[in-house]
Amino acid sequence: MAADRKVLIIGSGPAGLTAALYAARGNLSPMLVEGLEAGGQLTLTSLVENFPGFRNGIQGPDLMEEMRQQAAHFGTEIVQGNVVRVDLGTRPFRVDLADGRTVTTQSLIIATGASARWLEIGSDRKLAGRGVSTCATCDGYFFRNRPIAVVGGGDSAMEEAVYLSRLASKVTVIHRRDSLRASKIMQDKAFKNSKIDFIWDSEIAEVNDVSKGEVTGITVRNLKTGHLSEVPLEGVFIAIGHTPNTSLFKGQIDLDENGYIVTRHGTHTSVEGVFAAGDVQDHVYRQAVTAAGTGCMAALDAERWLEGIPEEAESTAAASSA
Ligand code: NAP
Repeated sequence: MAADRKVLIIGSGPAGLTAALYAARGNLSPMLVEGLEAGGQLTLTSLVENFPGFRNGIQGPDLMEEMRQQAAHFGTEIVQGNVVRVDLGTRPFRVDLADGRTVTTQSLIIATGASARWLEIGSDRKLAGRGVSTCATCDGYFFRNRPIAVVGGGDSAMEEAVYLSRLASKVTVIHRRDSLRASKIMQDKAFKNSKIDFIWDSEIAEVNDVSKGEVTGITVRNLKTGHLSEVPLEGVFIAIGHTPNTSLFKGQIDLDENGYIVTRHGTHTSVEGVFAAGDVQDHVYRQAVTAAGTGCMAALDAERWLEGIPEEAESTAAASSA
């Protein structure tokens, strides 16, 4: 069966848009489906100072808009909205869009990213952007000389606590156990920082005060004794990990024990013709520049793979020019 597309890309963060740029310049006329969080995590960021090429930094949303325009300029068809279902069982692959359309494609690049985890206690989400954040580098600046909490005991939590200690008046780390998961070096940095305190064996029962629409403190529950205590502070940073956006692909493609897509030999997945790039397959580096790099790799891998299936690729070309 002839496919509508040679390459379809799901996701519009740095990985997806870089894949689109390379696929478009490779004359593959890609379609890119943006997803619900168009532009990805960088659209939630303010100044990005570590993306090469911008000596004075660039605002995250501006960087994503540049990437989007660049991908479109070379002929990427960008579709707003979401993918609701994919069928990777037979080729061409079927991709069902939320607007009711079904698109078939010879190759698929998955760049759906990962989303920060929330505490799921209700008040954390209700006060998101009003004192509760999942990104210290994005929002830390707003908490200069104010007391804040960081939740979590991993490398992200320690990194954020150390970073925030340079801005906030005091950082209280709330961790659910009595030891950290973070690497030794990150633990040492946090322990010897006089502005960082720890509350062990505890969780946040409530972020206060939803009725005021701002953070005035937290109610902390000791998980060993059940005792509740109040800690007055003005900001809460949640750093309890990320969840890869892979629910669409579960059961169809190899995922690791944390739900990340397993890639080998560059960006190849367990399904021939399906490639993955960016945070959806990377829980280690998770940088815009590494996501963009793997997006480039995915487009080149897809292009080379398509070259190896000449008849199918030809029938795709015939279908798209019809
Ligand atoms: P992580 O290693 O999975 O740690 C998550 C932390 O959050 C754990 O301490 C966990 O507690 C806690 N947690 C999870 N769910 C929770 C909940 N519902 N309520 C309260 N606490 C909860 O995640 P991460 O810190 O984001 O790191 C992810 C990966 O990136 C790791 O491989 C890490 O080494 C890497 N990383 C590296 C660096 C670096 O090298 N500079 C920086 C950041 C991240 P438990 O410990 O009890 O499970």
